[in-house]
Amino acid sequence: MTIKQTNTGSSGGGRDGLSARVIDALEQLHERYITCDEGRIADYIPELTKADPNWFGIGLVTVDGRFYGVGDHDQAFTIQSLSKPFVYALALQDRGREEVVRRVGVEPSGDAFDSIIKLDVHNRPHNPMVNSGAIATTGMVRGDSPEERFERILGVLGRCMGRRPTVDEAVYRSEKHTGHRNRAMAHLMLHFGVLEGDVEAVLDVYFRQCSVLVTTRDMAVMAATLANRGVNPVTGERAVEQSYIRDTLTVMHTCGMYNYAGEWAYTVGLPAKSGVAGGVIAVLPGQFGICVFSPPVDERGNSVRGIRVCEDLSRNTGMHIFETHPERDEVLDRIEEVADPSPALPDPAQHLGDATVHARDETLGGHAKE
Ligand code: GLN
Repeated sequence: MTIKQTNTGSSGGGRDGLSARVIDALEQLHERYITCDEGRIADYIPELTKADPNWFGIGLVTVDGRFYGVGDHDQAFTIQSLSKPFVYALALQDRGREEVVRRVGVEPSGDAFDSIIKLDVHNRPHNPMVNSGAIATTGMVRGDSPEERFERILGVLGRCMGRRPTVDEAVYRSEKHTGHRNRAMAHLMLHFGVLEGDVEAVLDVYFRQCSVLVTTRDMAVMAATLANRGVNPVTGERAVEQSYIRDTLTVMHTCGMYNYAGEWAYTVGLPAKSGVAGGVIAVLPGQFGICVFSPPVDERGNSVRGIRVCEDLSRNTGMHIFETHPERDEVLDRIEEVADPSPALPDPAQHLGDATVHARDETLGGHAKE
């Protein structure tokens, strides 16, 4: 296993011991879940099936710019839905809160990320973290042409990660070619006036945005930028206006993990976002950002290893945002040894019988392959 720790920030007394403990904890979690064979690689975007199910990286970046990484933290993967919070922040900057919320709600949908049927009573997408809301959000980014709009999206992603990202052209073409479900949603939103203008052009920008290449390390820096009130802690550059960080973290907290958002909030308790290529980011405001990357996803499209690592880490350190205590700003200091694997919440299917299992399978149909 590769272990890497980079000090990009200032180093205070006692930091070395702390660094060793953080790396040790991440390493333990990596070892614990490297053999986990649950989940499947998403195949509804055909190009994603080229991923290796064994890829597994964990990265953590503190608000003072320290990076801790284990495993495949330099492996490139496509950002997919991890782009949504950052583009949401850009749309808020471009249009203001009132206009954005008029078009896209802030209510968890309780449905799968690509649910096609449900708009809310105002004919808006429920929130900007599901596909319909994210496509509408992309449509609100300002620019005189689709190229300029995409360039501005690359700009915000680049400032948050501290380098100019590139696009995986094969994944982009693959999704553009097969993304008819998203296309159908976009046309429904055109009908209701949530989207305006050239729908195909908005979708094209959205597909490109989802195909931006990142690493676990990049995403940990991006999560840490959100933790650091919008300033990239490695470059020191302001990437997102501070006034919209609160909105962005709120929708991540309530909606970022799709129809697992409630359970995630209960067990991990951090604003988070997942992407169907296998990335998960989580943010502890004022302290650090984490990214876990591993391609096998569960039936909701969330990385299985990503969930497991964050659940164990949260239990170990008490980093749940509602687990308040005086020394909360020393969460990383409490990393001593990694707690036992989290006990899963009870599975309702066991109590409610086959009908539930059936209903769940239908919602998820076609996201993943054996
Ligand atoms: N590009 C993907 C889609 O629109 C993103 C979904 C995801 O990461 N959950 O379906």
